[in-house]
Amino acid sequence: MTELMDGRMTAKKVEDDLKIKIGLLRERGKRTPQLTVVLVGDHPASLSYVAGKDKACQRIGMNSEVLRLPRTISQTELIKVVQRLNDDSQVDGILVQLPLPAELDPQEVVRAIDPSKDVDGLHPINVGLMHMQLKGFEPCTPRGILRLLDEYQIPLQGKDIVVIGRSNLVGRPVAQLLLNRNATVTVCHSKTADLQRYTRAADVVVVAIGRPHFLRKEHVSSKCVVIDVGINRLENGKLTGDADFDALNGYVSHITPVPGGVGPMTIAMLLENTMDAYYAHEALREV
Ligand code: NAP
Repeated sequence: MTELMDGRMTAKKVEDDLKIKIGLLRERGKRTPQLTVVLVGDHPASLSYVAGKDKACQRIGMNSEVLRLPRTISQTELIKVVQRLNDDSQVDGILVQLPLPAELDPQEVVRAIDPSKDVDGLHPINVGLMHMQLKGFEPCTPRGILRLLDEYQIPLQGKDIVVIGRSNLVGRPVAQLLLNRNATVTVCHSKTADLQRYTRAADVVVVAIGRPHFLRKEHVSSKCVVIDVGINRLENGKLTGDADFDALNGYVSHITPVPGGVGPMTIAMLLENTMDAYYAHEALREV
C-alpha cells in the first residue's frame, strides 16, 4: 500500500490557521498583512501562478496586490518599483514572479528586495541565513516539502535522502533544509554518472528536474518516500510530475501526487512567510 501525501489537505490546515490569526488581528483593530506580487509581462504560466497566489490570499483574508507591469519595463524602472514597495509600510511581503523577460536580470531584481520582505526566500541574505541555520525566510517550495514530510511523520534524522536537481529554487535549498534536519543528503544532477546507485538505496527521493515520468520503479526501493516537485504540461494539456506516478503508486511507501502534492504547499508557505514578515514588521514598530 502506498500512502498518498495530500498537499491540498496539508496546505488547507496551514491556511485555516492563518485565517484565524488574521481574523484575530481584525477583531483587535490591527493592520492586515499584505503580499504584493510583481508580474512583468503576460507569460501564461506566470499569470496562472499569480492568480493562484491572489486567490489564496483572499481565502485567508490577507491583503493581496498584483502589480502588472509591461514586458518592456527597463531594469532601472523595475528596481524603482521594488524600492517603492520596500518603503511602503503597508507591504509585508514582496514577490517578483519569475521568470522575468530575458532582457532583465532576475538576480539584480531579487537583490533589490528588502530581505525582511523577501517572502520567496531568494535574496542572498536569506539564502545565507538558511545555510547557517539562522532565522530568515526559507524558499517556499523547499519549506513546503519539509512541512509535508513532517505532516506524514516521515523521519529525516540519519536517513539517506537523494535530491535530484540542483537549482537555486528547489534542489539546492531543499538539500540544505534536509541537511539541517540531520539527514544524509546526496544531490544528483544531469551529470551524475549512475543515478540509480544513489536512488535505489535512498529512504526518500526528492525529484525536481522538469522531466515528465522520469523517476521509474527501477530507480527506487519499495520502502522509498517519493516527493515529486515537477510540474510538466503534456501535449494533451494534462499536468504531470517528474515521477511515473502510475508505476510507483502501489509500489513505494509514500508519494506526492501532481497536481495536489508539493504545489499547494508552495503557496501555503508563501502565505506563512508573509505572516511571519508581518509579525516582524509590527514588532519593530512597537519598539
Ligand atoms: P531547473 O532550474 O530547470 O533545474 C533542473 C535541474 O534538474 C538541474 O539541476 C538539472 O541538472 C537537473 N536535471 C535535468 N535533467 C536531469 C536528468 N536527466 N537527470 C538528473 N538531473 C537532471 O528546474 P527547477 O526550477 O528546479 O524546477 C524543477 C521542476 O520543478 C520543474 O518541473 C518545475 O516546474 C517544478 N517546480 C515546481 C514547484 C512547485 O511548487 N511544485 C516549484 C518550483 C519548480 P544540471 O544542473 O546538471 O543542469
